[in-house]
This record gives sequence, structure tokens and C-alpha cells, in this order.
Amino acid sequence: MREIVLILFFLVENGAPKSLVVIPEDPSEQARVAANDFLWHIEKLSGARLPLKTEAELTQADRNGALVAIGATRLAKEAGIDVSKLPPEGYVVRSAANRLFLLGRQDVLPATKKELRGTYYAVSSFLERDLGVRWLWPGELGTVVPERKTLPVPAIDRTGQPKLAQRKIRNALTNRKFIEGMKYVPTDPAQRQRMIGESDAWLRRMGVGTRVQIHAGHAFTRWYERYGEEHPDYFALHLNGSREWKNLGKPKNVKICVSNPAVVEQWIANAKELLKRNPSRQSFSASANDGYYTGHCTCDRCRSWDEPGAPDTYTFYDVTAQGRTTYRYVSLTDRYLRFYNRLAEALQKAAPGKFVGGYAYGTWRALPLREKVHPNVIVGFVGLGYFDEERREKDLAYWDGWSQLAERLYLRPNLLHGGNGLPAVYVHKLAHDLRRCFDSGMFATDFDSLAHHWATQGLNYYVLAKLLADPRADVDRIVDEYCRVGFGAAADHVKGYFAQLEKLTDRIAREFPEVSKRLTRELELKKRVRWYHMAPTWYTTETLEALEVKLDAAERLAEDEAARARVRFLRDGLLFAKLRAEALSAWLAMLRMPRDDRSAIRAARKSVIEKSEPLKSYYRHHATTWVICPQLVRMISLERPVRPRKK
Ligand SMILES: [Zn+2]
Repeated sequence: MREIVLILFFLVENGAPKSLVVIPEDPSEQARVAANDFLWHIEKLSGARLPLKTEAELTQADRNGALVAIGATRLAKEAGIDVSKLPPEGYVVRSAANRLFLLGRQDVLPATKKELRGTYYAVSSFLERDLGVRWLWPGELGTVVPERKTLPVPAIDRTGQPKLAQRKIRNALTNRKFIEGMKYVPTDPAQRQRMIGESDAWLRRMGVGTRVQIHAGHAFTRWYERYGEEHPDYFALHLNGSREWKNLGKPKNVKICVSNPAVVEQWIANAKELLKRNPSRQSFSASANDGYYTGHCTCDRCRSWDEPGAPDTYTFYDVTAQGRTTYRYVSLTDRYLRFYNRLAEALQKAAPGKFVGGYAYGTWRALPLREKVHPNVIVGFVGLGYFDEERREKDLAYWDGWSQLAERLYLRPNLLHGGNGLPAVYVHKLAHDLRRCFDSGMFATDFDSLAHHWATQGLNYYVLAKLLADPRADVDRIVDEYCRVGFGAAADHVKGYFAQLEKLTDRIAREFPEVSKRLTRELELKKRVRWYHMAPTWYTTETLEALEVKLDAAERLAEDEAARARVRFLRDGLLFAKLRAEALSAWLAMLRMPRDDRSAIRAARKSVIEKSEPLKSYYRHHATTWVICPQLVRMISLERPVRPRKK
């Protein structure tokens, strides 16, 4: 059956421009960027560059012709479109007679002082749903633009609003880890700027954004420099009887004596200070600083806030002792949750209706035994990951428990750092988990961070962004579409490649706990092995060759240059896995050498250097190609990284 579509007018007909793009007389930055985005894609699709004017520049003849009005134009108002009636972040795609209107809520959210992205979403929605554009990854190769010389505008009347109040994925290109990585992989600053622009555009087009303001991060990172001298009592008591943090770790990782009432007073005073600067601010963070195995207060009062019967115990480090000795101790959830609750009570007196934001994180992410959650506490659950199935199942159970306790719960995973750039696919588990979280009350997300390993993990990123836009979307349809639009005739083989990778990733997740224990023993490590110690266990020559066979078949079938280039892009990612696994194997062989056999260690070091050379040149070549992000891959060291276990 053929669908009958009423065509109202043409944007482009047989490659010739047939309409004009118009933005408000005094356009916002968003309207300008959205209009340029629109023009760029139309030109890619059809070869035609549509003219762009502000409303003030329109002639009567322009007004009589076909117009695409982007942003809050008078034309939209005259057509009866009132975006202020839309929900926050809402957008409209509407055509009528010879007009197409693309606009949305763009007001500044007082709490964040940031603009809502409604107009961006209107443009992306039109490009994606009505013109068939897809953004598989940032940059030109990842942008799929079907070639169409004629672009009709049918009758459309659509409004939308992203389902989750916040769909945040942080961009790793702007974080500290990337800057540190530039020491190992020199990166042209202009190229980095280009990449930041392309990746921000990708995030925006995929619907990442927010209509709420959540502050829940590590809250005491500057306390030591601010109060260390004057208020030593604010800080954690160590096992050696001192509250001094100097020389024990980074100042930003200092821990607080949270049972000290003076700490609550100081925190409230600081919150009031912040409120003076922005009275619309909604929440204030209260999470303990990072480094969740070290430095927590051992004073009697703080300890009395813990639950000795808590089933979850962890190995903590005593940083004050010689050689960092360890001790077992219970989960800190009841302690920190009691702290959040106390702050919330005090905050209700100081500023009614405002929220305390706190993580359920690391050694305090297990469920509390005693504490409930104050209704004015927002909990950010830091968990989930796809390289350790035991851990994932535990985290899912924790999430379910937290969802019963907290009125406001959001997901703040670190899972995108998993796998350290090696090829992995976990889209089905991701879809299952996001749906479970969404169905049990998740109102927001904050993913740390988009690591830009696009050839090796890009399918996960794409599916994630799609699911954040609609957590109930069908993951198989998303994957099918990714393969079909990106790879055409090679789609089935590419899909087979991803399926094989997903099997491998599942196996890694199942075997992780066992392999981790075995290697920790075998290498006599004091700490548990890291992911990169284990990678060669799974990324073997045979496994990688079997994956390559799939891509060979895909490349033979790919019909056009763009599809072939995309298969080669995936292949470049697989090459990374091969080089990395070889270098890591040589490095592990070095770690296994008997400590007293100097000449054997020298020979092993030489082999590590040899195997690292091709990897280094690969990193240089791919510093800015989107294949993987070498700046974020953990570098391997030529030194034995850990001291031998104490006998
Ligand atoms: Zn204490």
C-alpha cells in the first residue's frame, strides 16, 4: 500500500533552492547555530545552499515565498505558535501552507542560568525523522545524509519533549583525564577544538540536555585549603589519632568528620552564600570526596553512625600507616545518608524547598540498614557496568532498593570508561538496565563520560543517547537502523560483527571475577589487577581474527565509498585491539619474570618497547580521528607497577 503524502512546498527541487531560511531579527545564539546546522545538512542532502535572512531583512517577495522559520520568529507568533505553552524543553515541528516552523522552548532555566535547547531539538527532529539524517558518530564520516535532489515538505504537526528531565552524558574531551593524556599523545589544540565542537554537536543533535539542575558531586574538594588551618575538627580522624591530611593524598580527596555539628553549620552557611548569588538554585551537593577506600573518619561518633551488621564490607586503606595497610570495615551508607538527612533537615529551616544532592557511591552505594531518605535528598546512584556481571547484578539490586527509598533518584554511572578503548558491545544489557531504572523512577542521568572510542564502542554510545531520548525504545530496531543506514548492503555482516563482540563482552563480564582473582594471585599484586592486566586473556589473536573475518565480508559487500569508509573505520578500531593486546601481553610477560633474574627482565623490557612502538605510532595517527581516543587510554608503564606482596 502506498502512503499518500500531501506535499505543501519544496525546500529544494532538482537541486535548486526553493525556500529561504529565516531567523528572528535579533537571533539567539541557539537560533543561529540551529539554522546553520539546518543549512549544512540541506546542502549535504541536495547540493543546494538555501539563503538565510533575519526577519528584518525579508522583502515582500520573500514573505510570499516558501519559508523555513527557525527559532522564536514573529512569523511563528503570527501563525499562532506559542512555545511558552509547551512544557520545558518542548519543541514544535509544524508546516502550514508554504511555511515550516522549527522552534522550541529556549528560555533560560534560572537554576542553571542555561538555555533550554528546544529549538535545537526541533531542527534535529525534522532532519532525523523527516529527512532521514543520522548521526552515528561525530564528524563527517559518522553523519549519514541520504542524497536527495528534491526535498518536499509534507504536512507535519508534531510537538515533543524529551522524556527524562536530564539526559546528561559528559564530554571527556573537556575533562582533566584528556588533558593529562595529551602528555602521552601530543594533540594539536586547534584539532582538539574542532573535536570538541563536533562532539558537542553530536550530543546536542542526539538530544542530550537538561531541564533541571542537580548538584550532587564531591562537595568538599576545596574544604582542606579553605578550613584546614582554622578548623581541623572539620576533618576526618585517622587511625593514628591525627586529623592532618597533609602529605596523605590530594587535598581534593580529604574526608570530613560528618558527625561534627559544626560541619553541618558550615555547609549550611556555604549553601546560603550560594543562594545569595543565585536564589533559583535548587540543590547543593553533599557527597564525600573521591577516593572511596581512603581517609574516612574513624572518630567514635562517626563510627557510631555506621551499622556494624551491614552485610557489605570493603577493604579500606589506612593512609597514615607505613606501607598503606588495609583493614576491613562495613559499608559507610548509613553514616553518609544520616549526614545527607541532617543537612536536608537543616536546609529546610534555612531555605525551605531546596534539596541536598548526594551520591550513593563506592563504599556507600550499598543499601542502608537503618536510615531512610529525607524527601529533600536527591540520590545519584553511581553504579552499573558491563565488564563484571557480578558487580552489575549487585548494582541492579542496589538500584531497586534505592528506588524504594528515595523520592528523587537518578543514575550517574562511570560505565563509559569501561574497557579502556577495546572493542565491546553491551547494548542489550544497557537497554534492559535503563528501562528497569526508568520504570522504577529514574528522572535523570549523568554519564561520566563519553570516552570517544567510536570505532570500538560507538554503537554503545549511539544506543545510549537514543535510549536517553526514549528509555522504552526497542534496542534491536536502533541497532538494525544503525547498521542499515551506515553500512547499506554490508549491514548484515556489520550486525554480525557487533553480535560477536557482544558475545565476547558478555563472556568477559562472566569471567571477570575469576580472572581477576587468578591474575592478582599469579602476579602477586597487592591491589586487585586492573582491567588492562586482564585484557589479553580475552582479546586473543584467534578472537580478533574471527572478528576481522566479519569485517572483511562487510567491506566486500559495501556498495558505496561512504559505507566502505565506515567499515574501514571499524577495522581501524580492531587494529587498536590487536596492537594493544600484543603490547599488553609483552608487558604481562615482563611482570611474570622472576624478580632476581635481571637479564630476563631486561629482555622482557626490550620486548615491551618493541611491541609498544607500533602502538605509539597508532596513537599519534589516531589522536584526532574519532576511531579511538588514545589520550584516554591508560598508558602502560615499563616499570613493575606494584610492590611485591608482603610475605
Ligand atoms: Zn568523625
